[in-house]
Amino acid sequence: SASATGLAIEALSVAYDKVEAVHGVSLQVAPGTIAAVIGANGAGKSTLLNAAMGLLPAAGTVRLDGRDLRRVPAEERVAAGLSLVSETRDLFSAMAVEDNLRLGAFRRGRSDLEESLEAVYARFPRLKERRRQAAGTLSGGERQMLAMGRALMSRPRVLMLDEPSLGLAPLIVREIFRIITALRADGVAILLVEQNARAALEVADTGHVMELGEITMSGPAAEIAADGRIIESYLGLG
Ligand code: ATP
Repeated sequence: SASATGLAIEALSVAYDKVEAVHGVSLQVAPGTIAAVIGANGAGKSTLLNAAMGLLPAAGTVRLDGRDLRRVPAEERVAAGLSLVSETRDLFSAMAVEDNLRLGAFRRGRSDLEESLEAVYARFPRLKERRRQAAGTLSGGERQMLAMGRALMSRPRVLMLDEPSLGLAPLIVREIFRIITALRADGVAILLVEQNARAALEVADTGHVMELGEITMSGPAAEIAADGRIIESYLGLG
């Protein structure tokens, strides 16, 4: 409903030229929960997140804690409490880890910024050890941590993550998912898009299957993970 807290996406549609990549998607993410969107390459998952962030023109409604964000540009959505860690993790390679983090602190005073920085370092001790190192020299896992840390600098109430496990070794994937569950415990509403359906459904509370731009199945993550068709199409035998 319109007054619900967390994120509410209602009837969202996005077209590139004349081709609709996302058709009429609705989903909600309550504070302190993880919603996973799984689906094949090209299903429209990244398009959904980029449109929810306000980076692409879209039809439909996005609400944050009941507030309609339709006319709110992306940078103000960050200030309002919405944050996206994009699949490309676009960091400033030549800049130090800490300077990348500072850029994530949106319109905040100095003491607030230092407090956010300490909170991020507490969450990611590895980033503190490497705070003077150029972002471009980090490992893939460290880069993902930095992209997440930068998103957390704006203290989001809703965090959207696009394929956080992409290209990472299993041990690092486990570490990243452990951090995502810790953020949930802090009350953040998390919208997680993943091709790694198994890992995503293991941590998520609710799951959504996206196919050809539409949500074709939604429900408790455990039920989706136990569904015969989903096992066959997305979970394999592993
Ligand atoms: P992946 O996991 O491979 O990134 P996805 O589920 O995130 O897949 P999207 O990247 O959202 O899927 O793409 C959805 C559809 O929209 C695809 O058919 C894609 O080719 C198309 N698309 C994405 N970006 C653009 C663009 N900038 N211009 C035109 N078409 C695009």
